[in-house]
Amino acid sequence: MLDGKNIIGFKRSKRGSNSFKTINPILNIENETVYYEASSEEIQEAVSLAHQAYRTYAETSYKHRARFLNAIAEEIMALDQTLLDTYCSETGLPEGRAKGERGRTVNQLRMFAQILDEGSFVEASIDTAQPDRQPVPKVDLRKMMVPLGPVAVFGASNFPLAYSSAGGDTASALAAGCPVIVKGHPMHAGTGSMVSSAIIKAAKDTAMPEGVFSHLNSSGHEVGEVLLKNPLLKAVGFTGSIKGGRALFDLAAKRKEPIPVFAEMGSVNPVVLLPEAMKKEAEKWAKTIAQSITLGSGQFCTNPGILMGIKNSDLDCFIEILAKEINEVVPASMLHPVIADKYDDGRSQMQQQKGTSVVVEYSEKTKANVGRPAILKVSAAEFRENPKLHQEVFGPFSLLVECQNIEDLERAVSLLEGQLTASVIGTTEELRGYDHLLKQLETKVGRLIFNGVPTGVEVCASMHHGGPYPATTDSRFSAVGDDAIKRWLRPVCYQNCPDELLPASLQNSNPLQLLRRVDGTLTRAKL
Ligand code: NAP
Repeated sequence: MLDGKNIIGFKRSKRGSNSFKTINPILNIENETVYYEASSEEIQEAVSLAHQAYRTYAETSYKHRARFLNAIAEEIMALDQTLLDTYCSETGLPEGRAKGERGRTVNQLRMFAQILDEGSFVEASIDTAQPDRQPVPKVDLRKMMVPLGPVAVFGASNFPLAYSSAGGDTASALAAGCPVIVKGHPMHAGTGSMVSSAIIKAAKDTAMPEGVFSHLNSSGHEVGEVLLKNPLLKAVGFTGSIKGGRALFDLAAKRKEPIPVFAEMGSVNPVVLLPEAMKKEAEKWAKTIAQSITLGSGQFCTNPGILMGIKNSDLDCFIEILAKEINEVVPASMLHPVIADKYDDGRSQMQQQKGTSVVVEYSEKTKANVGRPAILKVSAAEFRENPKLHQEVFGPFSLLVECQNIEDLERAVSLLEGQLTASVIGTTEELRGYDHLLKQLETKVGRLIFNGVPTGVEVCASMHHGGPYPATTDSRFSAVGDDAIKRWLRPVCYQNCPDELLPASLQNSNPLQLLRRVDGTLTRAKL
């Protein structure tokens, strides 16, 4: 089934001269299929097709687009065991995780199909004319969101399904009415290719225009750079490292026509441990946090990479139980030898920083590519002096910052960069006394968690998966949940436009029965 080719519109193609293979990190061997990197010609062709498809696709009815998304979900499920096997062989992740991620992927597609069926995502707004208004008449103004145009999606290494070819970025962009060109992640080219074939089948079955989706193979920065420089491209979705996201953001800003890059990047997701909670429930929290740090070998953007607490005997007790719990976790393979090497390097660099000491580190001999869980600790004074200690170590790692008192804790928090999340562990009574700390954390994050861990990101309307830089390149937008669609839309206002020329969403008779803001009131009524 896997032929290693690129998918350019509805055609499969291998015109490039570079090839690569994926790696099974558990066996530490290459998988069989050879993938052909997209040539410049293939990249330009994919973008041209997307550009040509854009007008037709943008004008498909919301219900038609919803059928397309639901068909993609069905086609992905139809790939069945072959997809799960390919996923596992390219990531080292267990089948249970593959199934869970597949479920999340198809649910996201179905969620955006429902959003399309309902239709209010276009935020239709109408201010009717007042020809008799004094001193000047008021014109008729109608506004709605329209799709931006062709979008490039750079899939995540750590979510081969839910944040890759048919993941949240693709699903939300397709829902918005934007054709998508995926720059596949080289670590799971087979998974990406199978899912992309499912998208093409769904596109054909639901009569979508050729170019609505393309999938490019690559194992180096060049394909992404060429793609991003193409003047017909209108936006980029990215999940990965700060270095990668920032490089693409800078490249997009340098274009003759700069375009938005919605990059979801690194985060250490601080967890603040308040004293009363440590006194009452040190054991419960040590167990919960140990699970969160080591979940999926720590390869989540919401992994709790920094723990902060006030030094006393209760915190010592927490640290002791945390060390014991971490030691009992059987370390698992990481996604890829490169990620495993980067983790080893990041962990040992942290150990070399002044003032750090090891709380626990898995010391048994392991197979290649296994991520050894580790916890280090450091004083808040050292933490404040050394920005390297504030950086993410991607893997099952956390740094515990010991503070002398609440002022010391607040000073440490004030130095943190933007984060996807922060968690506060405290009793209800004591939380009331930490108002300043909570307000301080709110300025740093996209999601503030009370008495919970950051791993586990619910996909729903009220989720916000984003945060101030460097967690993302635009803190106003979410990469997860209903609002992810907003990244691919822009407002257009029609002034005094004849009713029959207006998009259906703005016409007087409200043929789509949308919830619209009419003269300041939300209503589904006709005008
Ligand atoms: P990455 O290196 O940022 O790469 C992500 C994607 O962007 C890949 O498709 C890569 O293409 C492309 N890319 C990266 N830099 C580029 C550049 N300068 N120009 C053009 N394209 C570029 O992330 P990754 O491969 O997923 O993982 C590497 C490291 O990122 C991990 O070890 C971890 O530290 C971090 N990471 C963090 C998160 C998080 O959520 N915080 C998630 C995943 C990874 P090519 O590989 O083809 O060059």
